[in-house]
Amino acid sequence: MAWDALPLVDAADDRPLIERRAVLRDGFYELQARTVIERVPQAAGIAQQWAVSPYRGCAHACRGCGARAAHRRLGLDMGRDFDTRVVVRPNVAERLRAELARWDGSELAVGLSGDCYQPAEDTYRLMPHVIAALTAAGTPFTVYTKGPLVLRDARLLARAGARVAISIAFVDERIRRAVEPGAPSAQARLELVSALVEAGVDCRVLMAPVLPLLSDAADQLGATVRRIAAAGVRRVEPMVLRLPPGTREWYVEWLRQAHPHLVERYEELYDRAGLPPEAYEGRITGQIAQLCQVYGMECGAPQAVRGEPKAAQLALV
Ligand code: SF4
Repeated sequence: MAWDALPLVDAADDRPLIERRAVLRDGFYELQARTVIERVPQAAGIAQQWAVSPYRGCAHACRGCGARAAHRRLGLDMGRDFDTRVVVRPNVAERLRAELARWDGSELAVGLSGDCYQPAEDTYRLMPHVIAALTAAGTPFTVYTKGPLVLRDARLLARAGARVAISIAFVDERIRRAVEPGAPSAQARLELVSALVEAGVDCRVLMAPVLPLLSDAADQLGATVRRIAAAGVRRVEPMVLRLPPGTREWYVEWLRQAHPHLVERYEELYDRAGLPPEAYEGRITGQIAQLCQVYGMECGAPQAVRGEPKAAQLALV
């Protein structure tokens, strides 16, 4: 079932919707899915228009995660619940095979609703089956992750010709601990990038999210790009933080506690849809592009393999 196709109201039972529909096992909510290919909201800022996600919610707990809002549709909150109550689709690969049988081959993003190599994947091992389904169908795909567990599937991903985008927006551990408290350190992710490149995987760094007024100083961008270049990757794709509804509240709550003097600046900077000004984003991505040139790396907006999906819009990620 599409995440947002679940009815919201059941007057006879006031437990959160997910507790009525899912099986709770070892701390994870298992929910059988009827539909797994979902529309990517434009605000995500990535190139792919469609995505498949084995997990909803994410133990990496990034403050600026754009997937938070959809947790509310399950009767959970977009803050702590998103970080700690992860929903699993045990039948994701089976459903994906069925949907790919009538798919037109447009590229899919994998892992947007929750990192597909977060700790839950160690328990469920869904990704090898997802990769196999996509490979068998000849569907191009990009895996978005911060999780070193992706290395387990490096051979499968290389054979499939998949792209893997590892997010590394800054190398300052104080910032990482504050805004990505459950994610591996930048150093661990840089080592992961090197290992993936070594294994022949088409790996790039998604330099996202660059945090306005916190990680966007010239020396911070310079240090980050230098370390990314040293990891051996050939392509960097920069993106400034987006704050769509749901993400915005959780991020600003943290900002109010950690950097109260910045709250007003953020309110001025972001529009109602949660987008930063084009001029600001252009300046930051321009700076990163110049740095990449110095180190001989490509830099640009995420690119997709183009194609018009035949399926009707299914759900928001
Ligand atoms: S790793 Fe990705 S999916 Fe997980 S919380 Fe961070 S941004 Fe969200």
